[in-house]
Formats: sequence, structure tokens, C-alpha cells
Amino acid sequence: MNLIFLGPPGAGKGTVAQQVTEKLGVVQISTGDLLRAAVRAGSELGVKAKGYMDAGELVPDDLVIALLKERIARPDCERGAIMDGFPRTIPQAEALEKAEVPVDRVINFNLPDDVIIHRLSGRRVHRSSGAIYSINSDGVPQPGPDVNPDDLYQRDDDKPEAIRNRLVVYRKQTEPLIDFYRQRGLLSDIDAAQPLEGMISDTLAATGSQG
Ligand code: ADP
Repeated sequence: MNLIFLGPPGAGKGTVAQQVTEKLGVVQISTGDLLRAAVRAGSELGVKAKGYMDAGELVPDDLVIALLKERIARPDCERGAIMDGFPRTIPQAEALEKAEVPVDRVINFNLPDDVIIHRLSGRRVHRSSGAIYSINSDGVPQPGPDVNPDDLYQRDDDKPEAIRNRLVVYRKQTEPLIDFYRQRGLLSDIDAAQPLEGMISDTLAATGSQG
């Protein structure tokens, strides 16, 4: 089973994906994580991608499409994958169809802009483990007493200027995918402003699995 998680930055796609992969017997493919790993490794792709990412712009389609195709062809994707953050443009979705990657369901995470900005500006990443925390008093997950605040950093693209740009980019380049997949009868809308447990059960229900 292949799923696409669609929705604005900060909607919780990655968090829900982490929680449902095991239950569904699939792997998570996050193009954002793959790109950040390439940047850290200093590969040719990473060098090309970094400037776009820091500014909150999309990385050019040809680079991301090649990355996704290489990843989804690996043996661990045989039982299926959750594509989290791909496709993000119509040409990327068309490339997926051309590569004959079947898509069983597209989960569309809905969240208003003010909530997105609040969530992203409180997001912090744990340096060594990559775990995501929120430093907002109403955010989840909270860093526990065992987490040293000095080990948490803010992604460059979670800074206010880049957040605003990511939202503009999302509305313009990614939102058209909602109609693209609705027309194909594949879209399920879920409310991303509700607590995580509700998002997880709604996602499982949309895939036909038990919530
Ligand atoms: P978020 O969903 O929180 O915006 P991601 O980790 O998914 O963050 O992506 C971070 C950045 O990586 C994006 O702003 C973009 O620059 C790049 N990126 C990730 N996936 C894609 C994609 N499918 N197409 C183009 N750029 C991408």
C-alpha cells in the first residue's frame, strides 16, 4: 500500500507517519529528511539543495524526483510506503504516475495558517537523535527532563521569514495537488488541528485499517 501525506508544513505529517508505519507494515519516505541528510553529508545533491531549503523554497523537481525514485525502488518499500512531503508540485505528481508508482490513498492534512505559524516557530530538533520537540507550552511532544535544552536547535527554515515563505510556496505550488488527487478519487481530508491520537485514528480509518 502506497500513501501520500499532503498538507502544509507543520501539519504533523511526519509525526503521524512515524506512528502508523508499523501498524500498516510500510516504510516512511520523507523527502525533507532525505534532503537534510544529503546536506549533512555534503553530497552534490546536498550542496545544490541547501540554499533552496534554508530560504523555504522548493528544491527543483528534477532533483527531488530522482531522489524519490531511487528511494522507492529499494527492497524495503516492497510492501508499501508513506510518501511524506512528496509530491509537492504537479510535475512531481505526474512523474510518479509516469514511473507507474501506484497510489492507494492521499491523506490531506488541514490546518489554518495561524496554527501553522505558531507550531513551526516552537519546533525544535534534537541534534543527535533528530527527534522533534515543541517548546510551546501547548505543544507536543514536550522535551522531558532528560533532554538538555542546549542539544535542541531550530531549523533555519523554521525561522519566521522562512515560515512565511513556505506557506506562500505551499499555497501556490502544492495546494493544486488537492484537486489533482480529488479528481482521481484518492483524497481523504483529515483535521490536523485535533490531538495526535485523533489524527492517527482518522488516518488509519481513511486507509481502511482499524483506528
Ligand atoms: P515541512 O513539511 O515541515 O515543510 P520538510 O522536511 O518536508 O518540511 O521539507 C523541508 C524542505 O525540503 C522544503 O521546504 C523544501 O525546500 C525541501 N523539500 C522537501 N520535499 C520536497 C519536494 N517534494 N519538492 C521540493 N522540495 C522539497
